[in-house]
Amino acid sequence: MKAARDIKLLVPRTRSGGIACVLRAVWTAPTSAVGHAVARLAGCGRPERIGGVAARATLYRLPSGRCRGCSAIAIGHVVIVEPSFAEHHGPWLLAHELAHTRQHDWLGPVYLPVHAVLQAISLVLYAVRPLSKYSPVHAYNPLERTFICVPIDVVHEPPLESELTQKVLRAFALAA
Ligand SMILES: [Zn+2]
Repeated sequence: MKAARDIKLLVPRTRSGGIACVLRAVWTAPTSAVGHAVARLAGCGRPERIGGVAARATLYRLPSGRCRGCSAIAIGHVVIVEPSFAEHHGPWLLAHELAHTRQHDWLGPVYLPVHAVLQAISLVLYAVRPLSKYSPVHAYNPLERTFICVPIDVVHEPPLESELTQKVLRAFALAA
């Protein structure tokens, strides 16, 4: 395990309410609608509300045992997880996916295209210079490792528990 400070972990700010909340809901509705449709097409079970003051999302679990090899994805404010993968990685996986929903607050309708382009660039760079532990679409993707308060690194290697890690998890209601 690594110390949290070696992972570029940041405590996410509380999302403001009121008119900003309404505008965010409109701005993020199209991509989240895609997420709900994907979850239904994949045969996911009942949706569940997750998150805390920093971000809230809808969680769907893929049918158990049917999608081995799948991991987790945030399509807007919809998080879809493979149940055994989610169980194995615990709260840090959900914290990472909830951190993606904060990017979605900014990117709105261009969230998916921007992710797709950066994943493709990461894939090309990875072909030239592979990075062990990381998947090709994550290794050089700034939306996975730089411009995110909970980088994908925590899923590969959870940070040691500290005041900082507890604050981050609490902001997403993933710790007491
Ligand atoms: Zn990610």
